[in-house]
Amino acid sequence: MEIVILAVVIAVVALGAISGLVVSSRRKKQLPPPPPTTPSVTAPPAEPQVGEDAETPRDEERRTIEEVGLPDSGATLVEEPPVAEPEAPAAPEVEVPEPTAGRLVRLRARLSRSQNSLGKGLLTLLSREHLDEDTWEEIEDTLLTADVGVQPTQELVERLRERVRVLGTRTPEELRGLLREELLHLIGTEADRAVNTENGLGANGQEIPGVVMVVGVNGTGKTTTTGKLARVLVADGKSVVLGAADTFRAAAADQLQTWGERVGARTVRGPEGGDPASVAYDAVKEGISEGADVVLIDTAGRLHTKTGLMDELGKVKRVVEKHGPVGEVLLVLDATTGQNGLVQARVFAEVVDITGVVLTKLDGTAKGGIIVAVQRELGVPVKLVGLGEGADDLAPFEPEAFVDALIGD
Ligand code: GDP
Repeated sequence: MEIVILAVVIAVVALGAISGLVVSSRRKKQLPPPPPTTPSVTAPPAEPQVGEDAETPRDEERRTIEEVGLPDSGATLVEEPPVAEPEAPAAPEVEVPEPTAGRLVRLRARLSRSQNSLGKGLLTLLSREHLDEDTWEEIEDTLLTADVGVQPTQELVERLRERVRVLGTRTPEELRGLLREELLHLIGTEADRAVNTENGLGANGQEIPGVVMVVGVNGTGKTTTTGKLARVLVADGKSVVLGAADTFRAAAADQLQTWGERVGARTVRGPEGGDPASVAYDAVKEGISEGADVVLIDTAGRLHTKTGLMDELGKVKRVVEKHGPVGEVLLVLDATTGQNGLVQARVFAEVVDITGVVLTKLDGTAKGGIIVAVQRELGVPVKLVGLGEGADDLAPFEPEAFVDALIGD
């Protein structure tokens, strides 16, 4: 009996010593990290850094014991009372984004609510018994009000007039089918609307991640879109590194990093006001060393000084291209700004080769016709549309689903 009591006392003392050491070693680890060098790479805290092995609390405990050479006397001879596991630091929850397939269909209610005046208005007008000049003018006005643009509006009306004439009597179903076809013709169904995230061939002949630059005027939803796009890519099974090259807007880097952490994507950032090109360069470098699939670069969009913008964006692209090609330059436009968006598109297209457009805030406007106008203006397709402020409210743009939402099916 005495032996058992003695053994228990030894065990308790030994355990006290272990837990004391573990706690003190933890305290040491909790010292504030040294100030970040520039640019810094931040990651979701629970993830090991590149090249580091993941260390669990148990590893840490084991090493602490080895370091001080704690005797394994007596305590191992008796049955140990259960030891409370030291609590692992709470890891930020990495979310699983919604799959991207069919997102536009899921979000179509938002589209049809805001675009009602376009699709439904056109159908109502076309259903009139007598399609006289006044009615055709109303049809034209409806299209112009929805920002379709003068030239495309005239084309559409001409084609509709011809087809309605050939059709003679019109059932509502025939009209719907006809309008659907003509709107699809206007938007185009042939273009490749996939965001190009293919690996590129690097300067040294090695494969590098797909590089996507996101450009646009501040306030259009550029940073939000970059974050949402990271989720889209993660949902599609890709690994992503984010580059916070919008170093001019104080909150942009934090905002982007938060988006990244939510899906376990690392963010490379620089000091506020620092050189955007160097952050972009380092982001791609990080992407290469991590073997990431895609690097997304958020850029600054100050439009008031066009020369400044031109220098800056051009430089970001040129510097990134030292690693290898930029596969995609996405221009973010706010659909609610109407014609102003087209002016922006023109300016950006002069500065950098745009390869795709993201139209944000389509949930808040009836001016969906801007899709047609901007595609004509730039000669590049709308690839993504923003339909709300929610994390998964960015959808690949599918013309069929879009038109069905406009006119109902
Ligand atoms: P940036 O300055 O261009 O980077 O703009 P932000 O990304 O900070 O976005 C500006 C605001 O637009 C934020 O409040 C976003 O939540 C909002 N926003 C972005 N995309 C959409 C969208 O598709 N729909 C709606 N309703 N709001 C959006």
